[in-house]
Amino acid sequence: MQYISTRNKNETASFAEAALEGLAPDGGLFIPQEIPRYSAAVRSSLGAMDFTDIAFETIRPYVSGVMDNTALADIINSSFTFNAPLIAAADRYAVELFHGPTAAFKDFGARFMARSFSHLRRGEDRSLHILVATSGDTGGAVADGFFNVPGISVTVLYPKGRVTPLQERQIAGLGNNIRAVSVEGSFDDCQSLVKAALSDNGLKERMSLSSANSINISRLIPQAVYYSAAAGRAFAGKADADGEATPRVKSVENNNNVFKAGLPVTLCVPSGNFGNLTAGLYAMKMGAPITQFIAATNINKTIPEYLSSGGYLARVSQATISNAMDVGAPSNFERMAAHFSLEEMRKIILGIWVSDEETRETIVRVYDEAGYILDPHSAVGWKGVDKLKEENKTFDGNFGIFCTAHPAKFSEVVQPLVGQIPVPSSLSRAMERTVNSTSIPADTSAFFELLNAISPVI
Ligand SMILES: *Cc1c(COP(=O)(O)O)cnc(C)c1O
Repeated sequence: MQYISTRNKNETASFAEAALEGLAPDGGLFIPQEIPRYSAAVRSSLGAMDFTDIAFETIRPYVSGVMDNTALADIINSSFTFNAPLIAAADRYAVELFHGPTAAFKDFGARFMARSFSHLRRGEDRSLHILVATSGDTGGAVADGFFNVPGISVTVLYPKGRVTPLQERQIAGLGNNIRAVSVEGSFDDCQSLVKAALSDNGLKERMSLSSANSINISRLIPQAVYYSAAAGRAFAGKADADGEATPRVKSVENNNNVFKAGLPVTLCVPSGNFGNLTAGLYAMKMGAPITQFIAATNINKTIPEYLSSGGYLARVSQATISNAMDVGAPSNFERMAAHFSLEEMRKIILGIWVSDEETRETIVRVYDEAGYILDPHSAVGWKGVDKLKEENKTFDGNFGIFCTAHPAKFSEVVQPLVGQIPVPSSLSRAMERTVNSTSIPADTSAFFELLNAISPVI
């Protein structure tokens, strides 16, 4: 499989180059030259296969030529030590993407990316040093993804005093190959420091520096796996038993109509930067039985507006209670537009946006009616489906709402609405960690001094 730039289809790269470089030389994003198809045999057995087997069949064509089957199987087995269960809640499925170590869907991509980097760089004598700036959420998933991965070390920069106690422990509580730096400044300051380091020739000569941001293709492709797994099971009329992390606080009789074998599957994706939804489009093109996507956003509604007006208008992001989706200029729109025309997108994606007030109301209502606790992002998805139904959009069959984070991650918002939230063991273990971070001013010389003290070989 070859990859091309969204800005120039003659600019090709292997999976290894696309993953390790991140951005194409012309500033575009890497996309696969064509989207592969599942074999008929795989397509018809998605509902019965194990998660890791679906992962293998899904990812294999994308890494052909640079990763053999044994290496891929090893990476999959050590990345996907959890799956994405389909839980019946009220009249729909909650597709729980938060059973990973940091309790959000970014664990799938971050873990696969980390292990892929390590494999693709085997034999290099210098270790790879990854720099990440985070406003709080992504840093934890990336730190955890790379934790103890051979040949790679990570420095995470976060704004001092502006992340939650849980986020700080997820970033700065791991140690070993993960270094945490709290910057006396804002997220933008953290990002400027990373950019300055990545473009400094002296540093680049001394050590192999890279970033691991959300637009990396090796983070996106593994996300297609849970779409195929969820759609396959829903199409087979199956649901899973509650898992350890399932935030169900009382058992309420579920509507048995949730299980409709053989009927179309609609998946609703709470979206910000649209990496998650783009992976879903790949899964659908590969042949997963998905009929319709719903792209639900908060007030940062650039894509829902694009779908209704046909005009793409990026804007400055606005702060909301579903803050991992506060994106006014979604990077992955460039990928979506490279693969699909507006008309094609309109056929498969329904856009909808949800206010903070509606999000809060939905958390309370679903708790009361179904005994199920949604996090603010998942609540945007849940309400998105309800709003479309109120607008008389009809979609028959099975609805799955992607629940992108566990509500305990956002207890500041959710607890005042519903009371005590059960905490999954991954998060309670993280809360027991000790924070160990270095504090620096928002100043390049302080940051470069810190980097220069790191050995280029570990
Ligand atoms: C990152 C994130 C999103 C948005 O995903 P995109 O791929 O950026 O659209 C939604 N929910 C949660 C909890 C997230 O962390």
